[in-house]
Amino acid sequence: MSNLKTEKIDHIGIAVRSIGERVSFFTDFLELEVLNEEVLEERGLKVAFVKIGETTIELLEPLSDSSQISEFIEKRGEGIHHIAFNIDDVDAAIVSAKEKGYTPLSDTPSRGAGSTRIVFLHPKTTGGVLVELVEGSH
Ligand code: ZN
Repeated sequence: MSNLKTEKIDHIGIAVRSIGERVSFFTDFLELEVLNEEVLEERGLKVAFVKIGETTIELLEPLSDSSQISEFIEKRGEGIHHIAFNIDDVDAAIVSAKEKGYTPLSDTPSRGAGSTRIVFLHPKTTGGVLVELVEGSH
């Protein structure tokens, strides 16, 4: 079995101006549960994970104007930001992505929420979708 085999969507990332203002759609209307909230200082982000079956919705709120999420919201408004696939080995994924012509946004994994290690692939090489590869669990 290849170490890149993915068996589920880890999460779908949605950029919002305010988790506090947007979370009620998921909790009150869809009656879903917030698993955890976390501040990712190094990425200038606050995230909240909403559990939906085997997967989660990740709400991303910028903590400063220099955050990538701020830029995204300024350009395109709130909305779907990325799709994350769960994989076994993010280091191998970076090597494989380069070999196969996809462009990782960094050469080394970053720390994601929980105990995860992550890397993003540039949307220009993935049909316009920002793809996050996630090793580990939240
Ligand atoms: Zn994500």
